[in-house]
Amino acid sequence: MPLIDPVLLKARLGELAGRFDVDALESCDSTSSELMRRADAGAPAGTVIVADHQTAGRGRRGRHWLSSPKRSLTFSVLWRFAGSPARLGGLSLAVGVALARALEALGARGVGLKWPNDVLLATADGGYAKLAGVLVELASDRRGCQAVIGIGLNLGQPVEELALPAAGLDQAGLAAVERHAVLAAILRELAAVLECFAEAGFTALRADWQNRHVWQQRPVQVLGEGEVPLAGLCLGADADGALLLQTAVGLQRIYSGDVSLRPAGSSLGVHPA
Ligand code: ATP
Repeated sequence: MPLIDPVLLKARLGELAGRFDVDALESCDSTSSELMRRADAGAPAGTVIVADHQTAGRGRRGRHWLSSPKRSLTFSVLWRFAGSPARLGGLSLAVGVALARALEALGARGVGLKWPNDVLLATADGGYAKLAGVLVELASDRRGCQAVIGIGLNLGQPVEELALPAAGLDQAGLAAVERHAVLAAILRELAAVLECFAEAGFTALRADWQNRHVWQQRPVQVLGEGEVPLAGLCLGADADGALLLQTAVGLQRIYSGDVSLRPAGSSLGVHPA
């Protein structure tokens, strides 16, 4: 039996239960890959796939997302938007806002966001460790745009060696939180945030995102593979979700493509694949 019971989850979702159609699996390649196949076969918006184990969990640019049944919550949500994908530039940032709100509503402390797709936890040494990752994958057709929103959240700190520090929800003061409660809280905030995003775009969530951005108004560097780091002051994100960087040669807009954001002076590089 999978660790998530959709019937129990529905009870936790209350009046939102009708908005989501949750399928829980013991194992799959990646919840986003499975959801994309189901979307291609006509699955409705609000379909959610949650899996205990992923054999090929994905991050950005073909990187791997590591999870283990007991210590992780990995799931993907299908959502549809009217209009073109160009409107969805800030979607992964908006999802970050939903995650932070949900974790705080559960009582988590020290949660922050990092452009463009990470949820971080403040650590005792003044740094940050990765608590969750978001991967948004878009497809469009005549009717509009489909987003597969993949979320990997560490309930416990990963035991694997990772390139950058990682943390679990247990370190955010939520050691005893039950996984159905966590998933229900996230889906609840996601529904509200995605509705707001569909109506008003990222603009409506931008101030909240910037308040939570861990390097807002701080010196940062933007790393591209094989490129000289671009240094500047982080001014946040624009209405399209692009990073605003005040550099020596003026204001630059950075789209999430192939870059990684780090604090100035950090020796941490780009993640290996
Ligand atoms: P960057 O830090 O360069 O912006 P990213 O945060 O966008 O990268 P993703 O591609 O979203 O990185 O996530 C994949 C990376 O996250 C992997 O390369 C790995 O280092 C790290 N990672 C994988 N699994 C976990 C996990 N369970 N917890 C924390 N970090 C993980």
